[in-house]
Formats: sequence, C-alpha cells, structure tokens
Amino acid sequence: MWIVSRFAPSPTGRLHLGHAFSAVRAHDLARQAGGRFLLRIEDIDGTRSRESFVAGIEEDLAWLGLVWDGPVMRQSDRMPAYADALARLRARGLVYPCFCTRAEIAASASAPHGPEGPVYPGTCRPVSGEAPAPDLDRPHCWRLDMARAVAEAGETLAWHDASAGWITADPGAQGDVVLARKETPTSYHLAVTIDDAAQGVTDVVRGMDLFEATHVHRLLQALLGLPTPRYHHHPLLTGPDGTRLAKRNGARALAELRAEGADPAALLAALRAGQVPFGAGHGEA
Ligand code: GLU
Repeated sequence: MWIVSRFAPSPTGRLHLGHAFSAVRAHDLARQAGGRFLLRIEDIDGTRSRESFVAGIEEDLAWLGLVWDGPVMRQSDRMPAYADALARLRARGLVYPCFCTRAEIAASASAPHGPEGPVYPGTCRPVSGEAPAPDLDRPHCWRLDMARAVAEAGETLAWHDASAGWITADPGAQGDVVLARKETPTSYHLAVTIDDAAQGVTDVVRGMDLFEATHVHRLLQALLGLPTPRYHHHPLLTGPDGTRLAKRNGARALAELRAEGADPAALLAALRAGQVPFGAGHGEA
C-alpha cells in the first residue's frame, strides 16, 4: 500500500515529548511501507509563529533522526490556495461573514458547547429573504453555514480511523465553524484539509485531541472535491497530573533533553515500544 504521512507542527514553541511521539508514529507508518514522510509547518498564526521555532523543529527532528522527504511546506506560503477555496465556497453561498467578537459569543447564554467550546449561535448567519449586504469593511471572519453545507454534501459521509474503525461524519455538532479568521484568509480546518490533499497525504497521524475536527475535514473534502485520507488518531501523552502533556504540566522540550545529554536513539526506541520516558504517561485513547 502506498503511504504518504506527515508531521504538521505549529511553530509556536519548541517540540516536546508529545510531538516526538506523534512524529515517530507518522514517520514509521510511512517508512515501514517504503512510503514518504513529509513535514509541514502550520504557521498561519502570524502573531504566535516564530522563525526560531521553525528552525527548532527541523533541528529537533534531525536530532531524533527522523528524516523527512522533499521540501518543507509552509502554510504561510499557501494563502492564495486557501483564499481560492474560500472564494469557491462563498460563490456557492456556503460561508458567511461574521462580525461577532469572542466575548459576544461567550456571553450568548444559549450557546451549547461542542468539542471546541461554545457552538456559534448563528447571530450573523444570513436568513433567506433578508437582503442588506454586510459591510465587509468591518473586521469579520468567515463561517461555514453548517446546515447548508451538510445539505449540499448530500450523502452520508464517512471516514476511517485505524483504532476506531469506520466513523459516520457528524460535523453538525460543531456548528458554523470558522474557515477564515479576521487576520488570515484561512483557519486550521480549511488549511489542513487543503494541504493534506495538496501534499498527497494518504495517512493522517495525529493526536486524539483532533478526532472531532476530522468530522469537519471530511465535510470540507466533500465540498471541495478532495480525497479523504485514512486517519490514525493516537492517544495523547499525559503529564504527571493526568492531563494532556504540555509545557504547563512539565513536558520536557527535546532541546532540553538534548542539552542534558539524552540519547535520541534510546528515546525513540522507548517511544516506539510504548514506554513513555521522563515522567510522562499515556492518556485515554
Ligand atoms: N498543527 C497542528 C498542531 O500542531 C496539527 C495539525 C494536524 O496534525 O492535523 O496541533
């Protein structure tokens, strides 16, 4: 089976053990099949991304001995592709501008909660028959009109997860997700869907924290005519407090372990064997 996998970190900090765990799984899946392992830098958030962290990612992967194929894709170079996809969705009436602030959405008492926080109550969603053109000079993001999008996709959509099996896509629970932010012509959901297709990714390896996002990605694939990769959502490493391993609960940065003289081969071997070194643990799948 032909396999193209990818590691797609955001350059907002140094890589830690949780990233190494994900990267090695993506790397090995491809390498064991004689396939390709790609690196993509998810730097759409210009305020949080740093060039020094991009360099750090490449340095840390090289230290671990995880070699990627071909050029590194940078999402900041891909804005025209995202803008084009957004324009196509807009032409079909599937996205609408939203002028609400975060505080306004949070204050909307009726907002039910989805996997990513409060579900947008639909304040700016156009109602058919109502005409005044929105003033696009005001700061706005673009939201997917979820009900319309699901209706337009028509058939029942499914995707496959290596652990969970066939899953029926249920993006509706997440409401009208943001497809382009106020400052950028894209969002995580749109960029990741377009780029996995553009890079020919056959197998997406990533943490369980993004399992629910896959429902949205599957819908976007259907709307944009893109192929659906196979998914491999893996358990997250946890810190000593049992919550997701992150800087705040003591995740060790690879750069720090390296400075302390840690052996990268031993670290990789431990992660491959399912042992979680340096006080981290396995979370619930
Ligand atoms: N850039 C995302 C992150 O660093 C991962 C995206 C993905 O694997 O789909 O959490």
